[in-house]
Amino acid sequence: MRLSGLTCVIADTADSAVHVSNILSFGLLNVNKQLERAAKMIADAVHPVSFSGAGLSAESGIATFRDRGDEDALWSKFDPQKLASQEGFLADPEMVTAWYNWRRKTLSEVQPNSAHLALAKLHGWTHITQNVDDLLERSMDLSGVDVSPILHLHGTLLEDHCNANCGHTELIDLSCAPALRNCDCGSYMRPSVVWFGESLPAQVLQTALQKTEAADLMLVVGTSAQVYPAAGLIDIAVEKGAEVIVVNKEPSGVNGAHVLELIGPAGELLPQLMDRLACYMPE
Ligand code: NAD
Repeated sequence: MRLSGLTCVIADTADSAVHVSNILSFGLLNVNKQLERAAKMIADAVHPVSFSGAGLSAESGIATFRDRGDEDALWSKFDPQKLASQEGFLADPEMVTAWYNWRRKTLSEVQPNSAHLALAKLHGWTHITQNVDDLLERSMDLSGVDVSPILHLHGTLLEDHCNANCGHTELIDLSCAPALRNCDCGSYMRPSVVWFGESLPAQVLQTALQKTEAADLMLVVGTSAQVYPAAGLIDIAVEKGAEVIVVNKEPSGVNGAHVLELIGPAGELLPQLMDRLACYMPE
């Protein structure tokens, strides 16, 4: 594994007091020790994968779905059955399309945060994400690194496809996404995101499964680990005995003998983790 653009930083407690100000559960020394342990685990990994969720993009200003106690979380404001299901779409396709276009406009106006930029440094990793945004891809572009494979388990906001699955797809300009319209076959066009009750894209899921089964380390970032089958990948990694590092704002509920949990904002913890990791990596 290679890292780019990183300098080895051994943070002392005073530095950390600034950077880990929002960390909830550990004392300062403990956080430093946990970060050190996590960096060593990553440095030793041969087949690492990352698995991310909405929390990765939260510090860019993209609302999560079901953050505990977060009144901005999307499902605390909107009804998932109306906005993210086939039934909801057919009941009011204009409204559902407008809601996705509002999310697209928001996405066009934000930037990758320091957590995305930290993940972008991990060359050769497979990045599995539940996110439907393109912030990880953009962070790799910004960092000038080769884009590592990113597996979008729940689809993407950057594409529409025919609701009757005739095969027609269209790339979407996030800043001016088209209103509801018909496909040439007569059905509606709809966002290429996976709705409740729908299957995950088969090839993407298959590749994610293979990579997870072969992984000796999984870095889990910003997910409530509640949406299956995606969250089942974490279970597979745990059951296979892979090292699992969880970076989440609140305890994730991921348990196992080889699970190390770092509690705090990913945008603070991941850059610190990369600084420590750089000390283990060859130039
Ligand atoms: P979720 O909303 O269920 O959970 C988000 C998790 O991230 C929570 O556990 C929360 O504590 C944690 N979190 C919030 N801010 C954080 C931060 N700054 N640092 C670290 N952790 C943080 O999200 P999920 O688990 O990804 O749920 C899956 C569904 O959400 C997927 O279907 C996904 O498509 C969808 N989703 C995606 C986006 C996106 O693409 N950015 C946004 C909202 C929802």
